[in-house]
Amino acid sequence: MKNIEALIPSGDNTPLPDRLRGITDMLGAEASAPVRTAGIIEKALSGETINREDALTIAGLGNDELPYILLAASEIRDRGKGRVLTFSRNVFVPLTQLCRNHCGYCTFKYEPGEGALFLKPGEVIDMASKGARLGCTELLFVTGDKPELKYGEYRDALGAIGYETTAEYLIDMGAAALDEGIFPHTNLGLATHDELLGFKKSNPSMGLMLENISMRLLKKGEAHYRCPDKVPKQRMKTMETAGELGIPWTTGILVGIGETWEERVDSLFAIKDLDDAYGHIQELIIQNFCPKQGIIMEKYPPPDFVDMLKIVAITRLVFGKDMNVQIPPNLNPGTYQLFLYSGVNDLGGVSPITIDYVNPEAPWPRLESMRELSGAAGFTLRERLPVYPEFIDGKYIDAPLLERVRAAVDELGYVPLEETDPDGSN
Ligand code: SF4
Repeated sequence: MKNIEALIPSGDNTPLPDRLRGITDMLGAEASAPVRTAGIIEKALSGETINREDALTIAGLGNDELPYILLAASEIRDRGKGRVLTFSRNVFVPLTQLCRNHCGYCTFKYEPGEGALFLKPGEVIDMASKGARLGCTELLFVTGDKPELKYGEYRDALGAIGYETTAEYLIDMGAAALDEGIFPHTNLGLATHDELLGFKKSNPSMGLMLENISMRLLKKGEAHYRCPDKVPKQRMKTMETAGELGIPWTTGILVGIGETWEERVDSLFAIKDLDDAYGHIQELIIQNFCPKQGIIMEKYPPPDFVDMLKIVAITRLVFGKDMNVQIPPNLNPGTYQLFLYSGVNDLGGVSPITIDYVNPEAPWPRLESMRELSGAAGFTLRERLPVYPEFIDGKYIDAPLLERVRAAVDELGYVPLEETDPDGSN
């Protein structure tokens, strides 16, 4: 078996299709898996999910053994998802960039005076209508957490347009976006039962990253110090309420923010418990920390590439063939297609008109290049709505909204091909 170091991007000029072929050859090498991975692979391939101990064994594997696990994760993805790689075309709307938290990795938040307190209704509607005109199907609302509890000027300005909370404002803006012909997908942060019910009328899906289940990361010196909205129990509570309400939910973990392997694995199993109970987790994002100048954690190293392959493969093996597992392509610009070999089946939202405000330094890849790279790896790229095909169902989406969602997809639940890239441009 060749060494998996061949997978690690070397910064050389080898064309990506050749690199991909090299990996395919390596994964197809004729050899039998070492004993300690063989049991895990057998279990996974027989349809059982792996347990915590198995996951931690994978975390500790050396480069000679890991390819067998990657092969198993790819095989399981193929069983559930085939060779289809999905993405959504979105408009990114940072409704407010004020926030009461102080995450060590944040580049999104600013203070009053450093930018607008929030986007005005007319601005949001303009973005929604422009996005819809350009063929976007998702309006991704992202906000800081509960700025109304910290900033008087924000509270007053919001009050002046008739709202007491960011959630109330977002609920109305979600409905306004839908009226413009684009589906809102809101990442509000913590939310109550009544707020979620309000969002459900216009949002076919919503999201909240768990990030990590560990309370340790809230201690002084850690990534979530002074972050009241990052208490894992409360994030789990919001997601549990969403489960009770049957809202298709996107969540995931952040990798490389100072967590241990145990904490990564425990975070995945916490999400799995929720999904086992409610079945509403539509997608898991495995998001890598990217150091940037000026953030509290600017000197932290990014997560190791092989560790990212491992955690993606572990996610696939823990959740099985039906889960949608996503890697953000703009945070892995030279390598995202390599994650196809660890079980990924989705590349998330890509915007033709707005930047990623959470990672402003990371441009979206062009659709054409995503299509070429996935084709070279034997995958077909398909555009989806913010809600995945398997959740387009009366069990999850109420009647009036469901009708609009169904009208926007083909018989497989994807955006019809003729609307995906009518002029062959991004
Ligand atoms: S990452 Fe999000 S929650 Fe954390 S400080 Fe930034 S805006 Fe607030």
